[in-house]
Amino acid sequence: MKPEISVIIPVYNEEESIGPLCAELYPVLKSLGRSFEIIFVNDGSRDKSFAMLYDLHKERPEVRVVDLNGNFGQHMAIMAGFEQSRGGKIITLDADLQNPPSAIPGIIAKMDEGHDVVGTYRIDRQDPIFRKVASRMVNRLTNRMARLDIRDYGCMLRGYDRRIIDIINASCETTTFIPALGRKFAANPVEIPVTHRERERGVSKYGIAQLIRLNFDLMTSFTLVPLQLVTVSGMAISLLSLLLVCYIMLRRIIMGPEVEGVFTLMGIQFLLTGITLMSLGITGEYVGRIYREVSRRPRFVVKKVYDREDE
Ligand code: UDP
Ligand code: MG
Repeated sequence: MKPEISVIIPVYNEEESIGPLCAELYPVLKSLGRSFEIIFVNDGSRDKSFAMLYDLHKERPEVRVVDLNGNFGQHMAIMAGFEQSRGGKIITLDADLQNPPSAIPGIIAKMDEGHDVVGTYRIDRQDPIFRKVASRMVNRLTNRMARLDIRDYGCMLRGYDRRIIDIINASCETTTFIPALGRKFAANPVEIPVTHRERERGVSKYGIAQLIRLNFDLMTSFTLVPLQLVTVSGMAISLLSLLLVCYIMLRRIIMGPEVEGVFTLMGIQFLLTGITLMSLGITGEYVGRIYREVSRRPRFVVKKVYDREDE
């Protein structure tokens, strides 16, 4: 029997949050009066998370657990959940209760109206200030480059129609950013505001390095504009250099040999070396992802799916 709603929750070391999460999520889902399944994806947790999820699965018929063979990251964990999901409407939710489950009925209502992707944006976001500022920059920059028109890329509480999930499952990307992917395939998207809370238990799984990597994934997956910027700035610098060379040649002819401006020259050289290395880096980000894509390794490895129906 296929449920009407699938809720997918990636879990990485969230032993403190799982109990409170269920206590809040269950009443909300029950109040909808529709059939549902909850798919927890254990993304290689090293604490008691998996044992707790396993107990939940034993206790509650709607809970299914996808146990991954290591830590593949939040987006791959959700992908693993998508592959297992059977519902007609799919909701993604973080385990840490930063996005309250009470927003789910609003998302479902929008989907009932015929929207195939229901995005959310956080009002009054409760995160460290540097993350809020960085997010605002990323949201603006990505919208300018990738033209996806998403207000809040980072908010993972979203709803997707079955049709969208089937397309996402078929696209098999190894590095990706799920809200952007869903938005790209949407025919009738909408965005609604949701409240946001501070993380009360456990710690954020995103340090600065992970955030940078995630944002590179977002950028490289959905736009080639950074590469074009490299090309255009290369062309502009070449043109300027040509003018400079003409000027220097004229000066040499008119004024004779000079040895001034050595430090200026060094300064310019450093700047150009910086730009060259950065450009190489940007190109490298794309090449690395192409490499990962062509090596055709599995995106994630599922150790076991705990599902009532197979037992
Ligand atoms: N998560 C995951 N794998 C990871 C990192 C995070 O499954 O490698 C899960 C985590 O357990 C949580 C969600 O992704 O349910 C969001 O993570 P977090 O709250 O740490 O991110 P933040 O809110 O700080 O952006
Ligand atoms: Mg969080």
